[in-house]
Amino acid sequence: MKRKDGLTCTGTSKQTKERCGNPPIPGCKVCKFHGGKAPQVEAAAHRRLLTELVGPALTEMRDILNDDKTPAAVKLGAIKDILDRTGFKPVTQIQVMPTEEQLLGWIAEFDES
Ligand SMILES: [Zn+2]
Repeated sequence: MKRKDGLTCTGTSKQTKERCGNPPIPGCKVCKFHGGKAPQVEAAAHRRLLTELVGPALTEMRDILNDDKTPAAVKLGAIKDILDRTGFKPVTQIQVMPTEEQLLGWIAEFDES
């Protein structure tokens, strides 16, 4: 599958000696067949994507929040996304505690055994 930006792998086919036409892995110049799956290449691609995309994404979010023309619902979505990704996610786990009656029942069962 071709990438929207038209980038192709910089690797060369050993059989045809022609340039590979596969899409490179995101953040990388080569496809999975030409080294794109090597751990160090994947790690570098990940770092590159973080550097290239996170800053502009945060800037865009800030601009959306500060724009008076942005609908409140869109601002709320952006605020939720920012809070969720910065450690202020709502609690998703509920701890259920036994009732006093249950505890006393378990203790009584334990004493009987
Ligand atoms: Zn390739």
